[in-house]
Amino acid sequence: VNDVIGKLMRQHRTLATINQSLSPELAGLVALDYGVDLTIAQAQTLEELLVEEFGSRAPVEENLVTRPPVVTILGHVDHGKTSLLDKIRSANVAAGESGGITQHTAAWTVEIKGSDGQSKRVTFIDTPGHQAFTSMRARGANMTDVVVLVVAAVEGVMPQTIESINHARAAKVPIVVAMNKIDRADANPDMVLGQLAAQGLNPVEWGGDTEVIRTSAQTGQGIQELIEILDYQAQLLDLKADPHAPARGTVIEARIDQGLGSVGTMLVQDGTLKVGDVMISGQGYGRIRTLLNDRGESIKEAGPSTPVIVSGLNNVPNAGDKFYVVDDVDRARQIAEERETLQRQKDLAAKNQTVSTADALYA
Ligand code: GDP
Ligand code: MG
Repeated sequence: VNDVIGKLMRQHRTLATINQSLSPELAGLVALDYGVDLTIAQAQTLEELLVEEFGSRAPVEENLVTRPPVVTILGHVDHGKTSLLDKIRSANVAAGESGGITQHTAAWTVEIKGSDGQSKRVTFIDTPGHQAFTSMRARGANMTDVVVLVVAAVEGVMPQTIESINHARAAKVPIVVAMNKIDRADANPDMVLGQLAAQGLNPVEWGGDTEVIRTSAQTGQGIQELIEILDYQAQLLDLKADPHAPARGTVIEARIDQGLGSVGTMLVQDGTLKVGDVMISGQGYGRIRTLLNDRGESIKEAGPSTPVIVSGLNNVPNAGDKFYVVDDVDRARQIAEERETLQRQKDLAAKNQTVSTADALYA
């Protein structure tokens, strides 16, 4: 140990103690000094750990029910993403009893009565564009089932439209096109259909399989149809979840609230999340104190594909962190504490390494 510590100091300008973690890079360098071939073990994911602890959570086939699709809107700047989301949302709020939009939420569900009389639900994630979509995906948090690609009928396919298509394809997520601004006198639907076909998105009306819905965020045209198509997509994709399973999902955003402490907007992806459940997420854990729906109303539980605002965790999780509900609060605390310690060691190792690199620059 003394030899290693000495080497770290002399050769790598790192002050280390006996029970300190090293970054994989630094550990690799030290191993090299000794001519040792180092294999860096992949850290166990929280999910793997929980499966080990509490057993596998394979879904129970006969409990599966169709769940609403989770949708992200992508497209070129100024083609109407924000306006379309606002229109979809206000149409829904107006239909409900609680009046105007009160607050911004990162995700929300719309519910409409379909032309077949059935109720259709779709959950929208309000990401600020494809950067957020991509960075969430890079973190393994692929929440999106369907991408709505907004293409203005005036300008047509633009560079960010193509980028969005590429992102959706990389994520293997199907695309529904909203050909927006269809109310404009200078709209040119045929041009857009041709451009879409050229990108490999052959419209249904041309015998292909890409749904292209003509929409207007101004007049509301096509919005009902869009929701119905998205609901239909959920059936095609066979999107199912088990409402009786222990809840799990993903953190969309989180922050500290003066009154409530750690507060996170989370998407329930399987199971039903309830007030009083014990949750682990990121380095945090806790018993759920309050659940708010996308209108800021207090609720007791939230099922699959429902966005919900959660308070009760002892730590603020990160966007993209998974969450899991477990039975055993003591074990949850232990796991969370172990993970926090691990993270602290990692942070420390990273910090030490930064210092040593800076030192090396001036050496
Ligand atoms: P984003 O950058 O994609 O979020 O686009 P915005 O929603 O901010 O819209 C850009 C501009 O286009 C705004 O001035 C909107 O009022 C306008 N706009 C959006 N959708 C429509 C539409 O369907 N019809 C018309 N005429 N204008 C629209
Ligand atoms: Mg916008």
